[in-house]
Amino acid sequence: MFTFTSNILKNFLSQRATRRYPFETRSPFDGARGMLLNHIEKCNLCSICAVKCPSQCITVDRKASTWECDPFACVYCGICVDACPESALYQKPEYRQVAEKREMISLKGEIKKKVKKETDNGIESE
Ligand code: SF4
Ligand code: SF4
Repeated sequence: MFTFTSNILKNFLSQRATRRYPFETRSPFDGARGMLLNHIEKCNLCSICAVKCPSQCITVDRKASTWECDPFACVYCGICVDACPESALYQKPEYRQVAEKREMISLKGEIKKKVKKETDNGIESE
């Protein structure tokens, strides 16, 4: 009973352990992955990120040239970032902003044409 009462008193008199998010935020920890972003100008719409994503939250439509991600389904694992052959994907170590409704990240990309380059032995594709 004494321990119980002293704990209650201690909790009343000490600072609260939680923050008033989103009014108070804390800096991300070292190595935190954070929000997923796409340098769409580098993206080749190859779909590798969509295939690798364990949450299945990326959709690539090559016909419409769109890259979409549902940030509410993303678990920030970084697998797509590691898998992207164009280094288009990256993670910004910040928490996602508070949103009143569910919105997709929808970007318009472009399928890059392969460039042929001349070599000493002939023509080689890049
Ligand atoms: S973000 Fe990277 S892996 Fe995903 S479609 Fe674009 S180029 Fe491919
Ligand atoms: S960070 Fe993980 S969960 Fe989020 S889109 Fe990439 S692979 Fe999917």
